[in-house]
Amino acid sequence: MHELGLCTSIVDAIERRAGTRPVARVTVRVGRLHHVHPEAFEQSFAVAAMGTVAEDAAAQLVLLPVLARCGACNAAWDADEIPAACPTCGSVAVELTGGDELVLESIEYVA
Ligand SMILES: [Zn+2]
Repeated sequence: MHELGLCTSIVDAIERRAGTRPVARVTVRVGRLHHVHPEAFEQSFAVAAMGTVAEDAAAQLVLLPVLARCGACNAAWDADEIPAACPTCGSVAVELTGGDELVLESIEYVA
């Protein structure tokens, strides 16, 4: 379950930012290329956060689409997976412009 490694990185980032403040909620933006399943994410986050300031935090996962651009005809589109070829002209000169994000977007602290 690779979600655990990913959640460990996220909890590390939370700890760096939060210090000793208890965290109530975090929002995490993750590109679809990470193949994160929301349920596995939730469980892994709970495991990774155990014993940290994020232990009781709710984690909100925002999945971002895979964004691609064609180097031949300049078409841009989004997808769930890495596209093999451009849907407009069929070229394989496809560049990924998004989908591998892993961003700790916001932290809310316990009041
Ligand atoms: Zn194209």
